[in-house]
Amino acid sequence: MGKIPSSTDVVVIGGGPAGSAAATQLARDGFDVVLLEKARHPRPSVGESLIPHFWRFTDMLGATAAVEAEGFLEKSGGLVLWDDRFRQIRFRDFGYTRPGLHVERDRLDLILLRNAEQHGARIFEETAVTSVDGDLARPVVKYRRAGSDPGEIRPRYVVDGSGQSAVIARALGTRRFDPDIRFTAMWGYYTGGRYLTIDGDVEPFSRQREIAPCTLVAAIGDWGWVWHIILRDSVSIGVILPPARLRAFKSAGATREARFQALVAQAPIVGDLMRDAQFTGEMYAIRDYSYLPVRLAEGSCYLVGDAAAFVDPINSAGVVFGLYGGVLAAWSIGRALHSPQRADEVRQMFCEMYADRIAMLRLMAMPADAAGVAAAIEEARRGVAMSSDAERRLMLMQATLNARPGGIIRAFEQLGVSTECTARDMPIPKVA
Ligand SMILES: Cc1cc2nc3c(=O)[nH]c(=O)nc-3n(C[C@H](O)[C@H](O)[C@H](O)COP(=O)(O)OP(=O)(O)OC[C@H]3O[C@@H](n4cnc5c(N)ncnc54)[C@H](O)[C@@H]3O)c2cc1C
Repeated sequence: MGKIPSSTDVVVIGGGPAGSAAATQLARDGFDVVLLEKARHPRPSVGESLIPHFWRFTDMLGATAAVEAEGFLEKSGGLVLWDDRFRQIRFRDFGYTRPGLHVERDRLDLILLRNAEQHGARIFEETAVTSVDGDLARPVVKYRRAGSDPGEIRPRYVVDGSGQSAVIARALGTRRFDPDIRFTAMWGYYTGGRYLTIDGDVEPFSRQREIAPCTLVAAIGDWGWVWHIILRDSVSIGVILPPARLRAFKSAGATREARFQALVAQAPIVGDLMRDAQFTGEMYAIRDYSYLPVRLAEGSCYLVGDAAAFVDPINSAGVVFGLYGGVLAAWSIGRALHSPQRADEVRQMFCEMYADRIAMLRLMAMPADAAGVAAAIEEARRGVAMSSDAERRLMLMQATLNARPGGIIRAFEQLGVSTECTARDMPIPKVA
């Protein structure tokens, strides 16, 4: 284990997808980068379903070969049961030539972190940032490393990719929960059971490496939903509950794990698929995890990924959003380091471009009458204009299938973009 320097060009806080992306790009640009990660990788994380945009970023980061070599399960799309309609999203219908993935996040995040290291970033694991002090234009990053005395480092820039820990936003008091999207997520892991292919065929879990699975989402009640994601050795199942349903869930007796299993057993389609599966006993929960981007960058500090903002995970876009933020922050900081006179201009560009992307994600998850829709449409205007036709059609399709198309349709209408959406209806498969 090397010694952490007392100064550097850029400190990156956190080695998730967002932090690793920023560190890789900055190190490739020739800057001295120190990444401080609280945990030791591989470490567990939720967020296992990836959309095909993902590959754009691994190509950029030089990580595609390593991700392919890992042998994650490929998926060609998703199936959604909502409002008694069963519908299919097949990525190739949107012009994508590469598949989505179902990934064990501990493995994926390890690959991305090692990729950053191979490109020259200095990585220090088991090193938690405890605060970012001083003027945000001249930050002092304080840390605690396992088995060592606390230390501090003075960088020219800081990228906060600390995920839901949101080190800088919490310290500034700017982490504001999103009043339009307030949910609780619970998830756990099973082995065995059955799964659906993209054509709705039912297969036993043991064939998961032979016959590609797809992500399955099913609505439970108003605005609640369950996911079913087949991994190589387990099945990830999560339940998202709105506040009213959470109260009923809490009063349903027994332990939290037992209540979770009962909910999964009753979920449409998923309950039948998992009838003979075994719950591994691992269960996790997070409450009110959606929050707004109040300040995305200030002085020499940039916020990326979940440390910047988070939207309901219904669109499987969190990892891609983090990678985008990391790459965008690296671009902005790189320009500012090369040409300090442009620092304010490029920081402002980062804030605007990242805010556009967040606004689009929020619109996809909001009902048309949510209080924040009008403001989000204004913020999304440029992002929608810059996105490709395939990307827009996929956004519309995802939001429509999840019965939450209100915000994005209003936005597309106002911005003069086609709202035509041709979801493919399918018969509900017989799983019993
Ligand atoms: C219920 C749920 C389901 C989801 N499903 C999906 C999905 O299917 N697909 C998808 O793409 N996304 C999904 N997401 C979102 C996805 O998990 C996140 O958006 C993504 O992990 C964010 O990446 P990140 O790099 O910003 O943060 P993280 O992946 O959380 O990484 C942050 C890193 O910072 C480290 N850290 C924290 N505090 C400190 C500190 N003080 N000092 C140093 N290091 C620190 C952590 O150890 C961690 O390694 C889901 C999220 C939730 C809550």
